[in-house]
Amino acid sequence: MNVLVVNCGSSSLKYQLIDMDNEAVLAKGQFEKIGAEDAIFTHKRPDAEKLERVEPILDHKQALKILLDILVDAEFGVISSMDEIDAVGHRVVHGAEKFADSVLITPAVMEALEECAKIAPLHNPPNIQGIEACEAIMPKVPQVAVFDTAFHQTMPAEAFLYGLPYEAYTELGVRRYGFHGTSHKYVAQRVAELMGKHMSDLRIISCHLGNGSSVSAIKAGRSIDTSMGFTPLSGLIMGTRCGDIDPAIVPFLMDKWDMTYHEIDAIMNKKSGVLGISGVSNDFRVIEEAAEEGNKRAQLALDMFHYKVRSTIGAYAAVMGGVDVIVFTAGIGENGIGNRDAICNGLEYLGTRLDRERNNVRGKETEISVEGSKVKIFVVPTNEEIMIARDTKRITSSLVMKNW
Ligand code: ADP
Repeated sequence: MNVLVVNCGSSSLKYQLIDMDNEAVLAKGQFEKIGAEDAIFTHKRPDAEKLERVEPILDHKQALKILLDILVDAEFGVISSMDEIDAVGHRVVHGAEKFADSVLITPAVMEALEECAKIAPLHNPPNIQGIEACEAIMPKVPQVAVFDTAFHQTMPAEAFLYGLPYEAYTELGVRRYGFHGTSHKYVAQRVAELMGKHMSDLRIISCHLGNGSSVSAIKAGRSIDTSMGFTPLSGLIMGTRCGDIDPAIVPFLMDKWDMTYHEIDAIMNKKSGVLGISGVSNDFRVIEEAAEEGNKRAQLALDMFHYKVRSTIGAYAAVMGGVDVIVFTAGIGENGIGNRDAICNGLEYLGTRLDRERNNVRGKETEISVEGSKVKIFVVPTNEEIMIARDTKRITSSLVMKNW
């Protein structure tokens, strides 16, 4: 069974075609700058040179058409006809409280996704466009939505509610939802496997540290708290997002800088975080270089990031009554040797002992704590695509049995 995994952003589309009989990636690639004259299309299959083209691409539908043509192309393709795509799995950012699991897309689900878009106006519309484009081009192929929020639906009310009038929650759905759920779930499952344990016996703190970053407390396989909230803006200081700030700062800045809410919102999302503090970049590699050359604000940005991750780990150890394993994933979590070292420096009171030698690793599943460390520390590269493909297989296989 072949599953096409699709992840649509506002001007991007990433994809993987996965053979679910052996979970092998047959081809993968992405479109960037969709809507522009010089959109970039890259496509790669494991045994061949990467294809890269720059061409005008109007919208997601056109990108999908190009993608399907390439998948069956004599030179760059991997399947002989579109009939060999058995199902499509879509990453959808926000499922609100409507979706605690992945779901087969039906007209009713589409309506619910539109509803969810009201609280995720930045993130859900491109996901919906991607689904509509697939439906238009592949009307007979079942499609599944896999939500970033679903894994966190197990959080208890004391963790997900904000101290606002209760009606903000009941009438408007204002609560913590959390994101990166597919990634947190994957690394939690994988680290349990690597430790030879069941998730039900573990207290896991999962640190997804990329351009967007979040930490999750996972007890007995269930997310019980996470640092992102109503939107992906809260929690840790990130590449360009501010993370947690006193909400009273927003009207204060609107007044002092004479800006609208939308202008401040754009600043909090795009000009803040380690970019805003360092004034150098949102890319941790560039910030590290600047810090090494003596740039104090670059060093401060790194210190703030490490401090906030460390303090969140401490908070989550407290809410779980301890921790058995801390796992690092995503761009910085997988590759940031110095970042992991700095974050763990000071966590020894929990029983963690980082092994400097073992920590000298990038992008590989590795235990990086010393032999016998009471609390283990692992690096586990994330794989959201395989989780989306597995859920798509699970949900569509039961359909085949029912003669869908
Ligand atoms: P996204 O949230 O866009 O998916 P990624 O998970 O790809 O982000 O992470 C991107 C971040 O990872 C960038 O800030 C980049 O600096 C960081 N990163 C990548 N490689 C390294 C590295 N070797 N050391 C430190 N940071 C790294």
